[in-house]
Amino acid sequence: LQRKLIRNEKLEAVSHLASSISHEVRNPLTTSRGFMQLLSEQDVPVHCKEYIKISIEEIDRAAGIIQDYLTFAKPSPEKVEILQTKDELKRAMDVMQPLANMNNVELQSVLMEGSIKAERSRLQQCLVNLMKNAIEAMPNGGLLSVYSNVIDDKTVVIRIRDTGIGMDANQLSRLGEPYFSTKEIKGTGLGMMVVYRIIESMNGFIEVESEVGKGTCFTITLPMKKRAKEKISLQREVV
Ligand code: ADP
Ligand code: MG
Repeated sequence: LQRKLIRNEKLEAVSHLASSISHEVRNPLTTSRGFMQLLSEQDVPVHCKEYIKISIEEIDRAAGIIQDYLTFAKPSPEKVEILQTKDELKRAMDVMQPLANMNNVELQSVLMEGSIKAERSRLQQCLVNLMKNAIEAMPNGGLLSVYSNVIDDKTVVIRIRDTGIGMDANQLSRLGEPYFSTKEIKGTGLGMMVVYRIIESMNGFIEVESEVGKGTCFTITLPMKKRAKEKISLQREVV
């Protein structure tokens, strides 16, 4: 059984890199899109209009990938709110259900109430990236189990476990390294980097346990945050 605790210095190093990729690729995409748009407004043959339309769609798709993987390149979160972990996990599982079906993966969950302070899109990006990896690790089907709980009223625990191919010690040590992927052209090697960065920004921890041929388990711990209303009522009780 291999274990790895994620260290902060690795996260700082990739943050800068991600930020430059994001900016340097977004700008030429925006420029190209603008010219494509201008071109489509010209008197061009119908089939050319179709080519331009496809080009714009593809540019938007590329920009979407950057958005998905590199949203954390923004210096600070846009909208931090109190989120219910149960709802957020359900939502992410709904998003992953079609991919799970395609891979013969069964989704299972035991979810307790808990709340955390986070930006929804980032949290979703993080959960989806982890679940996507779990499903991709089970090409011949398997079980993806999602568990959440609250410990001592102050720590939220989220566990995402798969019965997939697992990772060896070398793969585990490289997890979260930019562009580290064992999926060849299908992989970006950016998903885990994003996950670590997001969890760190939420003052959380992530621990990975994996065994080749058996599966992998990611455990995320985050500080529990109560809703303002609950806080007030608690304070009143104390008074
Ligand atoms: P990508 O999914 O594009 O390859 P990620 O950063 O999401 O990039 O993951 C990096 C690598 O970590 C994967 O290619 C895979 O080798 C390994 N990995 C991540 N999650 C799992 C998992 N649940 N089971 C097995 N291997 C995993
Ligand atoms: Mg991935």
